[in-house]
Amino acid sequence: MIIGSGPAGYTAAIYAARANMHPLLIDGPQQGGQLTTTTEVENFPGYPDGVDPFTMMDDMRRQAERFGTQFVSGIVTKVEFCQRLTANDQPHKVWVNDTDLYEADTVIIATGASAKYLGLESEREFRGRGVSACATCDGFFYRKKTVAVVGGGDTACEEANYLAGLCEKVYLIVRKPFLRASAVMQERVKQNPKIEILFEHNTVELTGEGKVQGATLVFRKGEPDEEIRHINIDGFFLAIGHHPNTDLFKEYVARDAEGYILTDGNSPQCYDQRLTTNDQRLILPGVFAAGDCADPHYRQAIVAAASGCKAAIEADRYFKSL
Ligand code: NDP
Repeated sequence: MIIGSGPAGYTAAIYAARANMHPLLIDGPQQGGQLTTTTEVENFPGYPDGVDPFTMMDDMRRQAERFGTQFVSGIVTKVEFCQRLTANDQPHKVWVNDTDLYEADTVIIATGASAKYLGLESEREFRGRGVSACATCDGFFYRKKTVAVVGGGDTACEEANYLAGLCEKVYLIVRKPFLRASAVMQERVKQNPKIEILFEHNTVELTGEGKVQGATLVFRKGEPDEEIRHINIDGFFLAIGHHPNTDLFKEYVARDAEGYILTDGNSPQCYDQRLTTNDQRLILPGVFAAGDCADPHYRQAIVAAASGCKAAIEADRYFKSL
């Protein structure tokens, strides 16, 4: 069973189906995953002219279907993972939409992560039309333009630097009077003449006709002093963190402090949370994690796809060992 329909889930399905494992893939709340919130994909190998993310995800789905993957539309609401060491042990149990129970020999968790947004109405309105949560994915569309990045952590600094290599000007909007990023990243941002850091600024609205053309900011000079500012921008990039979609599995699968699933080194094998202590972690047999739910670092479709491939290969090995 594969939970999630992003690049990790579909790739796992293609490999599992071709290995005759009869995968069942549960779509989850957003068929196609996080990638479908972007405008165009230009960095996935094999699409020299770029590709609409819906087309790309649909291609992956059809490829998985061609080899016999079965799909279930719905949301996984409960799981029960067991210590499955032999074929006679209880199977893993997964409930979809609270009511439908499915049992599986192996489970690949590929539930992805969700970028955090500020929660502004205008931000929702312009999503995919100037608002993005991935500079690597969308930065290219803003060549020689002016953009803003929100956040003061390593991701924000990295994205600001990346965008400065493409854009005319980059505003870095930071809510505190300092950056949280590592010293080296801070230095890079401060040294970059194209980046202007706006400390103690908060975005209150995005403006524009059909696409982002500006942002209204509040500059807090210390309570109760406030100043409203307006900047002209073509793109607005969120870099205020991601939340891995793993809460459902927390009873069974070991996670880091941010909620990313911990896997066994280079292997997609999950650890059993119930058998995890400070100095020891034990494997949860037959449960694997792939893609952004276990990857706080890269968050790229191609990396997620590769980890889906690894998870399916490992699942096949485990399956044959039962
Ligand atoms: P972080 O949690 O480190 O930083 C999030 C940033 O967003 C903070 O500056 C935070 O502000 C700000 N923020 C959060 N919510 C809001 C909001 N509502 N409005 C405005 N600003 C907000 O997340 P990152 O994604 O940057 O990093 C995650 C982890 O990954 C970190 O451990 C980081 O070190 C690591 N990483 C490492 C990289 C590298 O080594 N090359 C690259 C990228 C990430 P505040 O500071 O006020 O809380």
